[in-house]
Amino acid sequence: MKTKPAYDYLIVGSGLFGATFAHRAHQAGKRCLVIDKRQHLGGNVYCEEAEGINVHKYGAHIFHTSDREVWDFVNRFAEFNRYTNAPVANYKGRLYNLPFNMNTFYQMWGVSTPVEAQRIIEAQQQEAIGKTGGEPRNLEEQALALVGRDIYERLIKGYTEKQWGRPCSELPAFIIRRLPVRWVFDNNYFNDTYQGIPCGGYNRLIEGLLKGVETRTDADFFQQRAEWEAMARKIVFTGQIDEYFGYRYGHLEYRSVRFEQETLDTPNYQGNAVVNYTADDVPYTRIIEHKHFEAFGSQVYDNPHTIISREYSEEWQPGGEPYYPINDERNNRLAEQYRRLADDTPSVVFGGRLAEYKYYDMAPVVRKALDIAIN
Ligand code: FAD
Ligand code: UDP
Repeated sequence: MKTKPAYDYLIVGSGLFGATFAHRAHQAGKRCLVIDKRQHLGGNVYCEEAEGINVHKYGAHIFHTSDREVWDFVNRFAEFNRYTNAPVANYKGRLYNLPFNMNTFYQMWGVSTPVEAQRIIEAQQQEAIGKTGGEPRNLEEQALALVGRDIYERLIKGYTEKQWGRPCSELPAFIIRRLPVRWVFDNNYFNDTYQGIPCGGYNRLIEGLLKGVETRTDADFFQQRAEWEAMARKIVFTGQIDEYFGYRYGHLEYRSVRFEQETLDTPNYQGNAVVNYTADDVPYTRIIEHKHFEAFGSQVYDNPHTIISREYSEEWQPGGEPYYPINDERNNRLAEQYRRLADDTPSVVFGGRLAEYKYYDMAPVVRKALDIAIN
């Protein structure tokens, strides 16, 4: 006689998708086990404390959403501060505000009114549209059509080609449509209604979500797949979808990031959490100064040390950390094939950035995990 599995759900991956789902299933009285192959819980939002600073170990994470339900949900587990992302771009030693707004236009051309800025951008847009003659076919054409040549060359081209390791003319247009263009003096990187960082770091959020849920770290699903599968009625899988299906159609590709962390004996290194290096002669894409996510004004000086991370974008190799799905034609086609296999596997829920092979922000990941039926 077959024995009853010990758990209703085995949740593979303790990132925001796995943790949100586990919370809901636990609340619904389901027996859950969350496993993660890393040494810690939290996936890519994991923070590590050093010198009294919460270091975003897998890159800067700023929570932003206009979804009230998601915002209220995450605020149940951690108080969020008033951090507003306002990155600065450094191009050959000159600084420009991001996203592209009246401050940027002033720094770029010395113009002080929206009409003057629009006149310059429109002239450059006309030049770009004249060359392409219609709908932008790639990121380069899209960027030129949005903001013209000056901004493209100083603030977009070098950064984007470093980040993706491909020419802008071979990248999809949608990547750049994430960035707002504003005719007001407003450096807020996001258009969303709600934005912030959990006070005390993201681990608080993850700990709150996983309270009462059984978890195991250093536990790779693929190392003893049959045993894990036998333990639960259903599986929620948040790892790489191609790996789940044994790379049947080939490997999906990702961009990876190498973080070079440094502790400095100065209270304030760059005066901002995020500084992007947009020229191609600087090898890293950006420098994150972690204390600015949670320290504001004079609080910055309460700590005589600071921690920075330089981000080097790299091609992903099997066994490395997959970060950004690459949405070019080959990978999109392959991902679609894997999604069809997933649709034919009803005993497994595939969710999150890696299992859906989707360039997801945190809030939509939480939304998705809140919407899945629990049975
Ligand atoms: P993950 O957090 O990646 O979690 C997946 C987990 O599954 C991992 O812990 C992994 O170890 C585990 N796992 C995988 N395979 C296995 C296996 N075989 N066995 C066991 N465990 C396994 N979003 C924002 O909203 N704002 C931002 O500012 C922002 N900045 C970002 C910066 C960077 C550099 C990156 C890469 C992403 C950023 N994001 C940001 C996106 C955000 O990180 C994701 O949307 C979110 O973390 C995805 O959660 P997830 O649970 O899907 O995946
Ligand atoms: N981008 C750019 N210059 C910048 C910042 C961003 O050209 O200084 C472009 C780049 O193509 C990048 C895209 O905008 O891939 C999205 O940037 P975002 O910061 O939203 O990406 P993230 O790394 O946070 O996912």
